[in-house]
Amino acid sequence: MRLVGKVALITGAGSGIGRETALLFAAEGAKVAAVDVNGETAAAVVAEITAAGGEAIAVQADVSSAADSERMVQETEAAFGRLDILFNNAGVMLSGDDDAINTSEETWDRTMAINLKGVFLGCKFGIPALQRAGGGSVINTASFVALLGAATPQLAYTASKGGVLSMSRELAVIHARENIRVNALCPGPLRTELLMKFLDTDAKKQRRLVHVPMGRFGEAVEMAKAALFLASDDSSYLTGTEFQVDGGITAAYVTPE
Ligand code: NAD
Repeated sequence: MRLVGKVALITGAGSGIGRETALLFAAEGAKVAAVDVNGETAAAVVAEITAAGGEAIAVQADVSSAADSERMVQETEAAFGRLDILFNNAGVMLSGDDDAINTSEETWDRTMAINLKGVFLGCKFGIPALQRAGGGSVINTASFVALLGAATPQLAYTASKGGVLSMSRELAVIHARENIRVNALCPGPLRTELLMKFLDTDAKKQRRLVHVPMGRFGEAVEMAKAALFLASDDSSYLTGTEFQVDGGITAAYVTPE
């Protein structure tokens, strides 16, 4: 077990990447604070963890709220005494997200509030907890679209993930001497609810898959395994990276037939 004695806070833990990561981290010995705006799904993950003999608490919180973000860290420290791993993973891809002409100001603001400000707030309140614990690992979920322009327009989402990536890099530099590592996880296109809802026709799914050398969508559990590496001491010399787990999409100029 690779996370024995560690405490992990995971946002967006009710579904997809966050859910798989909560289950995997707990199985690896971590105590887990499963945070989600949807309190029911967070509680369901906690029930699964405890049924398997692990330790976890559910926290209902909206990461775009400073008060909620402060409380999620407080509740984690109150329950488990410390925080070692901060996984700022919650994110949305709104259906109205489009190109510059067609994306509404409201869609832009809401995307930024959750995807970008949410990560900032997680760090604002979470990094002091890591400092109190003597160090730790921060993982911020960005995306391959922080590195490549997508042909299916999702401008607010793409811009928010670019912000997550550059913020993570700078945080890594700022906190490197404090035994705090900060890495961005850049998933490729995944078969999770978030993307499948957005690419809501077969034609749209195929349009995206055409670019993936491996020829398939990734699975949330494949991101959880990457997050485990970033969270654990196995990645002790790794900070400031854009950790691409993407089926090769960012490496491809032309994909094989
Ligand atoms: P998902 O929709 O399955 O899970 C996201 C979770 O975040 C949900 O449980 C949702 O309730 C929660 N959430 C949404 N808004 C929140 C808020 N304001 N506060 C707290 N929780 C909130 O999505 P997923 O695919 O697991 O995505 C997780 C992360 O991975 C996101 O940041 C997403 O942008 C990123 N990502 C996904 C893909 C993909 O293809 N699915 C690719 C690259 C990056």
